[in-house]
Amino acid sequence: MANDAGAVFDVVILGGGSGGYACALRAAELGMQVVLIEKGKLGGTCLHQGCIPTKALLHAGEVADQTRESEQFGVKSTFEGIDIAAVHKYKDGVVSRLFKGLTGLIASRKITVVEGEGRLVSPTAVEVGGTRYEGRHVVLATGSVPKSLPGLEIDGNRIINSDHALVLDRVPASAVILGGGVIGVEFASAWKSFGVDVTIVEALPHLVPVEDEGSSKLLERAFRKRGIKFELGSRFSGVEYTDSGVRVSLENGKQVEAELLLVAVGRGPVSAGLGYEEAGVAMDRGYVLVDEYCRTNVPTISAVGDLIPTLQLAHVGFGEGILVAERIAGLQVAPIDYAGVPRVTYCDPEVASVGLTQAQAVERYGADKVATLDYNLGGNGKSQILKTTGSVKVVSVQDGPVVGIHMVGARMGELVAEAQLIYNWEALPSEVAQLIHPHPSQSEAIGEAHLALAGKPLHVHD
Ligand SMILES: Cc1cc2nc3c(=O)[nH]c(=O)nc-3n(C[C@H](O)[C@H](O)[C@H](O)COP(=O)(O)OP(=O)(O)OC[C@H]3O[C@@H](n4cnc5c(N)ncnc54)[C@H](O)[C@@H]3O)c2cc1C
Repeated sequence: MANDAGAVFDVVILGGGSGGYACALRAAELGMQVVLIEKGKLGGTCLHQGCIPTKALLHAGEVADQTRESEQFGVKSTFEGIDIAAVHKYKDGVVSRLFKGLTGLIASRKITVVEGEGRLVSPTAVEVGGTRYEGRHVVLATGSVPKSLPGLEIDGNRIINSDHALVLDRVPASAVILGGGVIGVEFASAWKSFGVDVTIVEALPHLVPVEDEGSSKLLERAFRKRGIKFELGSRFSGVEYTDSGVRVSLENGKQVEAELLLVAVGRGPVSAGLGYEEAGVAMDRGYVLVDEYCRTNVPTISAVGDLIPTLQLAHVGFGEGILVAERIAGLQVAPIDYAGVPRVTYCDPEVASVGLTQAQAVERYGADKVATLDYNLGGNGKSQILKTTGSVKVVSVQDGPVVGIHMVGARMGELVAEAQLIYNWEALPSEVAQLIHPHPSQSEAIGEAHLALAGKPLHVHD
């Protein structure tokens, strides 16, 4: 059937973030006619309000810390402060170069891009500003936005979310961060590097609570050393304005005053009022429900990214988008093993992991069937050179494959790529122990951990 737009599309994609644009690129590569509908900017949250700008802030923070601490390495320098306008210029420069590249890439694949707010109007059509785009398939990829707590109003000035934090035109003297998950600890880390007095409030007993408990504890120790304060197992009960900022109250009776409150309690799906339910799509609390092939209950409609209840990560969106494009094209596809997706929290020190935590492995295989080896970065030459601390912890099944790797330390986010191969290829510790790692590198810590687990430790003290 032809559209109002006059073309026949194989796939109509609603939302041009990581999930939607990856699907569009792969579908076009496979010869399909694609229309990609985006109300904001192509690249979505990851490029404009998420992964990329936060990592630029964290890198600026790292440079600040290195300047302050340079004398430890025999290098003389004077830290004069943060020029936040210049930090934003650097960050925005990175984003705009990537945005230009992405826009060019999408144009080069002959994808039709429609700017505007779309609404699903049938199982095969999306309408934008009165024009109907019809396709054989529709992919919903409208992503997510920051959440708040009931009664906690974000004013964008003293009570802010991550979108506001990324464009804040000042370095606050102090901040309370509500939420010790990935987004909360990344901002805590960057802001502390900028000189902010930071307190994190987390209702669960640990920072980054979905990580292996060992990683959380190492991060907490490192944050304590950096002077980042945190209240764990503490529930928020309210906030009031003071003359100069906010006073945050906790259910345990404590109060913390600061210049501002950053609310980082997670993100919720963007689905309200977009016609999904009317088209018969099954939903749960705003999330679109899908099977392991990202198919909704409506045969012509798929959904990907933060809109579905899988890991809220850009690379998960990429993977799901590609899977859907290939399935629609008739290729053989395999469901994603979500445990095998690497997870990185880019604070200082970084926390990176893949596979099962020790607790999950024990639950799945039984305590007597699980072996673990925690290799302290104290024994790793390159980590000593960098003056970073932490560990590489490997979880394996007794006489079986590696089922989880958990790392804390500077630059661990880069190392998780090797960990991912080990987990996803179901390698045995003895097989990884055979691989010679370059010296001196942090990757040796992975090699050493597997050597020890295979019963032939090298640089490990008894
Ligand atoms: C502060 C922060 C840091 C993060 N850091 C990382 C990180 O380091 N690594 C990582 O992997 N992930 C990170 N993430 C998560 C990552 O950004 C998301 O998982 C990813 O962007 C999800 O992609 P998506 O395509 O599902 O949704 P989105 O990126 O949110 O894209 C959805 C798009 O749909 C558009 N849209 C919505 N409704 C409509 C409509 N009706 N019509 C037209 N267009 C519409 C939106 O404008 C948006 O562009 C971070 C997120 C945040 C907030």
